[in-house]
Amino acid sequence: MGLLRADEIREHCGVFAVVGHPKASELCYYGLYALQHRGQESAGMAVRNGSRIQTRKGMGLVSDVFSREDVMRLEGSSAVAHVRYSNIGDEGGIEDAQPIAVKMWQGQMSFAHNGNLINAARLRTRLEQGGSIFQTTSDCEVIPHLMAKSGLKDLVKALIESLPALRGAYSLCVLTPNGIIAAKDPNGFRPLCLGRLGGAYIVCSETCALDAVGAEFIRELAPGEAVFIEEVEHVDSGSPCAREPVWYRMGNDTGKANSNLCVFEFIYFARPDSDIYGINVHAARKALGRRLAMKDNLSADLVTGIPDSSLSAASGYAEEAGIPYEMGIVKNKYIGRTFIAPRQSLRELGVKIKINPLQRVVSGRRVVLVDDSMVRGTTSKYIVSLLRAAGAKEVHVRISSPPYKFPCYYGIDTSSRGELIAVGKTEEQIRDAIGADSIAFLDVHDLEEVLGWQAGNLCTACFTGDYPVALEGDTCSDDFR
Ligand code: 5GP
Ligand code: SF4
Ligand code: MG
Repeated sequence: MGLLRADEIREHCGVFAVVGHPKASELCYYGLYALQHRGQESAGMAVRNGSRIQTRKGMGLVSDVFSREDVMRLEGSSAVAHVRYSNIGDEGGIEDAQPIAVKMWQGQMSFAHNGNLINAARLRTRLEQGGSIFQTTSDCEVIPHLMAKSGLKDLVKALIESLPALRGAYSLCVLTPNGIIAAKDPNGFRPLCLGRLGGAYIVCSETCALDAVGAEFIRELAPGEAVFIEEVEHVDSGSPCAREPVWYRMGNDTGKANSNLCVFEFIYFARPDSDIYGINVHAARKALGRRLAMKDNLSADLVTGIPDSSLSAASGYAEEAGIPYEMGIVKNKYIGRTFIAPRQSLRELGVKIKINPLQRVVSGRRVVLVDDSMVRGTTSKYIVSLLRAAGAKEVHVRISSPPYKFPCYYGIDTSSRGELIAVGKTEEQIRDAIGADSIAFLDVHDLEEVLGWQAGNLCTACFTGDYPVALEGDTCSDDFR
């Protein structure tokens, strides 16, 4: 129930790669910590030392998977690392944890990938019929099979030639025998950026991971762009470093790259201290909260957010509306994966372990409750009921995104449409379903205007049903289930 439920919609993944640094595994470890919000189901890294690639991965948080000794043991100067929350189609489990290591006729490689390939099942069937034998259920495994079949000895060429067969979302890092290749799909659904640390290069999902290791941001990869960075030895010192990146451009099947960055990166996924294409995520969320307030003329006593992802939007709303921002809800930060949710009988007694309203703050007051998104409506409904039980006089729910009506096929499992609260309901019906006094959402036009994006340059499909990569009718559903 509420924030204690086990069936939360699933996030995608985070990737982090290093080329040409003597402490590659330590950098990956800190980088993964900074990307932990992008996936808590498994963590892993593959580190190359000369021609040897060592991999360590496991289920759980970065802190569950790696001890200090593990990180020290993974000696090497180039590496790829990954945190994962299983995507649609993945059966989960350790064999699907990434990086995925493969030995091919062209050499040994390790793959770390963020996104969801919508034609993976079809490609896989075709490859299996042609004799390929798969080791995992991860959609990413089709990539090495395509590379092996390409007949090209040069790994960079083999990858660049294979990528146009893929449809959907990928931000990919591949550890090769002499460096890394990173690539972003031609729609650019997921973020991926390049940074520099002394003579080494870093590629990672979000800029907050560059900050974590003290690296300098160079730029976001453009949609449809790939880069190869070779590891070399420094001519004077003999210590590892990296050559200048070599860039490649790929088109999609129309030969063009479009920008369709997932708008949910701004709304919920990314960390507030990250910048995507130069836009700070906290500032973007705050501006979305302001927009909500501009469209409102509510009299209320205080504004509160649901920790942590809606706090930026709530502060923007409060500033714009001139209503004080208050801490109305406290979240316990120490509840990990192994937390056992209370049984129904205990819940009925009203145990509030994960989240607790501040009774002294909300009692007798008219509360504006801001959240970043409403998917199944369970979070809002639960918190409205907690605030009422704590004595709130009125609870007005404000959501800093539009009603979520269509499933995502590009990396987030939002289950079936039947579970989405906004499907087939008017705003009044949604308000009644969650028990609020009033409700308001942003619309897609607000998102595009506030984020300063040209119409059509963001993916907003879960709000509009307008999918940037066509799902090819009914047959596509076979690709996911
Ligand atoms: P709902 O409770 O309506 O199903 O989901 C909306 C809530 O879940 C919001 O509070 C939002 O912050 C959070 N949320 C949105 N996307 C995700 C996601 O991908 N994973 C998780 N764990 N929570 C999410
Ligand atoms: Fe992001 Fe929604 Fe598009 Fe999925 S459908 S990529 S969640 S904007
Ligand atoms: Mg939330």
